Amino acid sequence: ALSTASDDVGRLTRWADDFPEPGVKFADLTPVFADAKAFRDVIDAMVEAERSLRSEHRAGDGADLVAGIDARGFLLGAGVALALDAGVLAVRKAGKLPPPVLTREYQLEYGTASLEIPADGIELAGRRVLVIDDVLATGGTLGAAVELLGAAGAEVIGIAVVLEIEALDGRSRLAGHPVTSLLRV
Ligand code: AMP
Repeated sequence: ALSTASDDVGRLTRWADDFPEPGVKFADLTPVFADAKAFRDVIDAMVEAERSLRSEHRAGDGADLVAGIDARGFLLGAGVALALDAGVLAVRKAGKLPPPVLTREYQLEYGTASLEIPADGIELAGRRVLVIDDVLATGGTLGAAVELLGAAGAEVIGIAVVLEIEALDGRSRLAGHPVTSLLRV
């Protein structure tokens, strides 16, 4: 499933130069998600990634919660959660959730931003979480998400992304957490 998904992503990703800032080469995965076969292949490959994390995990336990990052991570996270029989958590951009929330500010490839999760209504302590996003660039976003989940007492068992921009070395910011990417460019 991984090589099929890599092919789909390589073929369908639309690259935009100088968006949203000069110097940024933006990977738009919209055509990947809009293609029924490619979307299925990507979700299958992420489910497979979770299965190998599961075999590495000390207790052999898989994820019981999938955290998808605002906004494209939501699309992936819901699909993967359903396939894993896990719950899904939307890690939101600041200002979308009612208080109380946990907040982390982080640096973007372009500017700064904040992510939030609910501090009430959901028990995160002891949950085993797979964190999902579309693109790993500098790793600031996934790093903030992992910190938030850790602060809430959850155990991040791994991270899965569709596309990894290797030159930005985001992986180094996620030290200690296994990262699976379906395609590295
Ligand atoms: P980063 O925090 O730098 O790893 O950026 C990751 C987040 O920003 C992801 O949610 C991506 O959707 C988005 N992003 C950052 N850089 C790019 C890029 N070059 N192409 C597409 N998405 C990007």
